[in-house]
Amino acid sequence: MRKITANIIFPVSSAPLNDAYLVLNDKGLVIDIVNYNRNQEEVEGLEYYSGILVPGFVNAHCHLELSHLKSDIGEGLGLKHFVKQVQKIRNKPPEIIERSIDTALRYMWSRGINGLADVVNSSVGLEQKKKSQIQIYNFIELFNESGKATDEILNYGNYIYTALTEANQVASFVPHSMYATNRELLKGICGLTLNDDIATMHFLESHWESNLVVDKIIGYLKGLKCFEKILLVHNLNLNQEILEQIRMDKDLFEKLFWVVCPNSNQYINRELPTVLEFYKERLNICFGTDSLASNHQLSILDEMKTIAINFSDLPFDSILEWATINGAKALGMDNNLGSFEKGKQPGVLLIEGFDFKKNQLTQSSEVIRLV
Ligand SMILES: [Zn+2]
Repeated sequence: MRKITANIIFPVSSAPLNDAYLVLNDKGLVIDIVNYNRNQEEVEGLEYYSGILVPGFVNAHCHLELSHLKSDIGEGLGLKHFVKQVQKIRNKPPEIIERSIDTALRYMWSRGINGLADVVNSSVGLEQKKKSQIQIYNFIELFNESGKATDEILNYGNYIYTALTEANQVASFVPHSMYATNRELLKGICGLTLNDDIATMHFLESHWESNLVVDKIIGYLKGLKCFEKILLVHNLNLNQEILEQIRMDKDLFEKLFWVVCPNSNQYINRELPTVLEFYKERLNICFGTDSLASNHQLSILDEMKTIAINFSDLPFDSILEWATINGAKALGMDNNLGSFEKGKQPGVLLIEGFDFKKNQLTQSSEVIRLV
């Protein structure tokens, strides 16, 4: 059993606590959150840290399979260039890819990530995933390729699905994006979808996508209603008109989670999503790192820092929700992850270099995994 405290504990599910400590069993399960008077009471065996305690992070968008492409693609050259380069250089012997996946998973764990959404185009890295302590949801991404019939693409997806589920991995079939997965293939994907499956899709990552007729965008999103939840990733060019139209379909809107990958957007497009607007619109925002092909590191804290520094009006409590409970809810992991609540096993992170006056992260904030 461990008793742990720091200057402030952020349970996420309730208000921050100044005078409390966490009680955890040997497996990291939260047994209790105890209030005490730190100036008067002596608690036996209490671990005291300088900084804040937060639950483990959830990375709501990644492509582990691209981990071996770190620093291979130039920055700021736009999405078209990026996609072309990835296709051109991604093929490497499986052992090289597996080694980089292993390193990436270890890095993410050490940087406080407990839950992960991984987009896959193959079953490479299964052994590494099975070994990892990170809880993973696999999205089998399907897209059209010239000369390939819909059935052929779906069959290949099934082949990956079988490999994943035989290794006890959670997985669902998803489209890549509006531009890469046509409506016929999307219908085929829905045909394979089970009741509680979750979808993800790259959405509005470029200007040419947001220039599509709004009706077309809404029509496509309605085609995703076969899923229980939908994670829309990037939202770089989400404008008021598109958002208003989506909102009109209440059933669709309630299924949506809006994933932002600020460091990847800066890497590829030198742009950031307008998260202050998303916050005002009360959208369910989550954080993703995207892959090492478009990011220097797979760290949710670094994504949070980019947002905190560029949008100083955003409260830390909200940014923390995006990094923890929102991602856990999006991936159906909130029974175990995302907040300090009795019976959960969310991981315990210490953040050092926190600005207590402004109640915000700083450029020098760092994360250390305690549990
Ligand atoms: Zn992506």
